[in-house]
Amino acid sequence: MRPTVIAGNWKMNKVLQESIELVRALRSDSGSIISPQLRVVICPPFTSLHAAEELLRGSRIYLGAQNMSEHDDGAFTGEVSWRMLKSVGCTYVILGHSERRQFCGENDGLINRKAKKALANGLTPIICIGETLEQREKGIARDVVSSQLKGVLEGIAPSSIEHVIIAYEPVWAIGTGRNATPDQAQEIHNHVRSEIATMYGEGSSRNVVIQYGGSVKPENAAAILAQPDIDGALVGGACLVSESFWAIVRAKPA
Ligand code: PEP
Repeated sequence: MRPTVIAGNWKMNKVLQESIELVRALRSDSGSIISPQLRVVICPPFTSLHAAEELLRGSRIYLGAQNMSEHDDGAFTGEVSWRMLKSVGCTYVILGHSERRQFCGENDGLINRKAKKALANGLTPIICIGETLEQREKGIARDVVSSQLKGVLEGIAPSSIEHVIIAYEPVWAIGTGRNATPDQAQEIHNHVRSEIATMYGEGSSRNVVIQYGGSVKPENAAAILAQPDIDGALVGGACLVSESFWAIVRAKPA
C-alpha cells in the first residue's frame, strides 16, 4: 500500500523569524493528524532549514529542500550540496520544479543527474513534471509528460525507483488558482503509472508515489486526493498558513 505524501513547498517565502513562527504553528497544530500511512514534509528555503530541523525534532514532520546541486562539493558558487542538506536534517528534496525549469534553465538531463545524486545519498527526490497550457491545448500533455519522465528517470536503477516520488504539476495550474480537475489529474497520473510500469514493471509502478501539485487548497483537496492514482500533493501557496496546510492533509479520505 502506497503512503500518502503531502509536501509543502514554501518557495522563496519566509525569512528566518517568519519560518520559526510557521514551523511552531505547524507543530502545534499537527495534533494526531499524522497516521502511519501518511507522510508530511515541509520544504522551507535553505536559510531556514537548520532552524526548522531543531524545531521539528521529535515530531513526525519531515524536512525537505527545494533544490540541490548535482555536485558533491567544490567551486560551485551559490549551490547547495546533498551533504549540506543532510547536515541540516533534510530527507527529501524537490527537483525540477517548473519554476526552476522556467527561470533557471533546468532541463531533464540536469534533473536526472540531481535525482541520481539524491538517491545515491539517501535523499528522497520529489521530481516534478508537467505540461504547459500551450502543450495541453495542443493535445500533447501525455506526450510531454512521457518524455519528461523518460528523461528524468534515465538510468535510475529498478532498485531505486520505489524511492522516487513523482510530482505531476501542470504548469498552468501552479500559483494560478486554476487546478486540474480531479479527472484531468487522474488521467495523467494513470498515464504516468503505466509509463513507469513499462519502464520498471507493474510491481514497481504500484509502489511509486505520484503527487499532484497545482493550486491544491482545502476546498479541492478531498476530491483530488480521492483519485486512485493520486498519492498525495505538492502544495505551494496553501502551505504557508498552518491551518490550510493541515486542512489539506486532513482531506485525504481514510
Ligand atoms: C508548487 O509550488 O509546487 C505549487 C503547486 O504551487 P501552488 O500550490 O501555489 O499552485
